[in-house]
Amino acid sequence: MNFSPGVCPGTRQRLRLAVCTAILAACSSLAQSPQPTPGKPVAYVVDLSAPEQHLVDVQILLPAGAAQRELQLPVWNALYQIRDFAQFVNWVHAKDRSGSPLPIRELDKSRWEIQGAANGAIVEYQIYVDSPGPFGAQLNPHHAFFNLAQILMYPVDARAAASNVCFRHIPEGWHIATPLTPAPEGEFSAPSYDRLVDSPVEIGDFQESDFDEAGGHFRVIVDADPADYDMAKIAAALHKIVFAAITWMNDRPFDTYTFIYHFPRGPAGGGMEHACSTAIDLNADSLKRSLDALTGVTAHEFFHLWNVKRIRPQTLEPVDYTKENYTRALWFSEGVTSTAEDTIELRAGLLDEKHYLDQLSEEITELERRPAHLTQSAEESSLDAWLEGNAYYRRPERSISYYNKGELLGVMLDLQVREASHGRASLREVLQWMNANYARKNRFFNDSEGVREAAEAVSHADLGSFFTKYVAGTEEIPWDDFFRTVGLHVQAVANNVPDAGFIASRNFDGPMSVAAVTPAGAAEQAGLQVGDTILELQGKPAGQESRQALSELSSGDTLTVKVHSHRAGDRELKWKVGSRQEISYEIRDLDQVTSAQRDRRAAWLKGEAQGAPATSRIAPAESAPTGANAIGVNQE
Ligand SMILES: [Zn+2]
Repeated sequence: MNFSPGVCPGTRQRLRLAVCTAILAACSSLAQSPQPTPGKPVAYVVDLSAPEQHLVDVQILLPAGAAQRELQLPVWNALYQIRDFAQFVNWVHAKDRSGSPLPIRELDKSRWEIQGAANGAIVEYQIYVDSPGPFGAQLNPHHAFFNLAQILMYPVDARAAASNVCFRHIPEGWHIATPLTPAPEGEFSAPSYDRLVDSPVEIGDFQESDFDEAGGHFRVIVDADPADYDMAKIAAALHKIVFAAITWMNDRPFDTYTFIYHFPRGPAGGGMEHACSTAIDLNADSLKRSLDALTGVTAHEFFHLWNVKRIRPQTLEPVDYTKENYTRALWFSEGVTSTAEDTIELRAGLLDEKHYLDQLSEEITELERRPAHLTQSAEESSLDAWLEGNAYYRRPERSISYYNKGELLGVMLDLQVREASHGRASLREVLQWMNANYARKNRFFNDSEGVREAAEAVSHADLGSFFTKYVAGTEEIPWDDFFRTVGLHVQAVANNVPDAGFIASRNFDGPMSVAAVTPAGAAEQAGLQVGDTILELQGKPAGQESRQALSELSSGDTLTVKVHSHRAGDRELKWKVGSRQEISYEIRDLDQVTSAQRDRRAAWLKGEAQGAPATSRIAPAESAPTGANAIGVNQE
């Protein structure tokens, strides 16, 4: 969540055991006699010697500076949610360079003040980390994964200063993978705290496969049971995704990009974007069935390297780690990233027209079924992201999803720009314009106004009413008006569908909880209550798979659910699935599709404008792929 313009570290160094040994040596000597030196960067030493206890000891070596300094641990990172990482800090101490204690006192729950630090100081604290997944920080006997903002405090007067981090007491056989630049002394360096903490770190016995594509170097790190995945298949899909995205944007603002994957057996699902890397968790069973979830989330997180990491709303800059950062732009930064995800998959040959239109139909159905689509705008949903941790907020009558409506707005904006420009511009030109005029000029954009500026610049049309009605407002989107331009329309279809009698929701990769129960329905009669945590569904751990499991039920089936509540502890409940009438929305061909509509649709599905010389918009010559390098994975 931290932005620094410019390119990613251009390192192609591979961290091998030799380097890790050097880190151990360097860290060990630092640890024994840490000596802050004036003018030096802020240095962090992260000790992994207690994986069973999930305890990390951190030392911060502050260079000489003001006598009175403040240290802040972020209250949020990775998710737009206040998570107060300070709750896990067991204790904090400070000392001077000779080891004599320095006074340190707590100013608020996440900030401390030290005195007597003029000649430098050493701050030490212990923090508990056992939060799995791409939005967490975890140390256990299997591995360590860190979003560093969750464990590293920063000196408030030196957040912009260069930072180093090293890891010590790494269990034998573990390696380090991170997009950070390895420094000669075996540390990792970053030009600022923000860049440091935008670099996830995996330490363990992982598998790695590297490849080159479109002029860039790519590292693929997988921490999972090798029986659960096929590295060659994953790398082949990544080749296609990165090539499709880079050529679509006609830009590659990095030399090296790192993918970090975990495939746990239990509930998992999610990805976290960073400027030069991503961390993604997927359930191992779902991965065995299909690569679809992996390619979708990977295309989404990879596209974020432009949209949100570089094409970035002003309202998220500078990041305020001490409180909520309110932005109206998540419908664009997240939702339109999902629009781009589909376009990348279409261009990569990983998604076809039928499945794409089916997916869009489901997105329309999801939005239309939430009564809150008439009361909460896409901008308000963005502002309210900070409420998503609360089950009531996630109820259909209270909120919409900025992912869901934002993705659809991305599609509608694409079609609107095409119509206004007679096919000469598209969402691709909007995104490229924003990349050229904001990201590459180190400017941030003015939330929805900035998107409108870009869309109007490439379409030469006034798009004010689009933004007023559908982005800032809650008017029903007239789907047919947009889809007619590509020979499609949206049909409402009433079906009798199985009804489990409740609605459940999850907060990202958190537990699934019951958000609503149909009054007097079978689920309520069986004892299910709003707020119950669903542990298992049909004998399987509740997680990303559960939605699929629920969709496969027929009326009359017996549903078995294991739930937990504070009142009644763990219980197993059973009831018969009922049925109810439900409206679905399906995107279908118009009866008569004209050739103009057909041409527009073909260009739309390619993510390209019409009549533009295709070759001039695609990759730089040196990065044109060949069939061979699209599948020629360099496995090491
Ligand atoms: Zn995202």
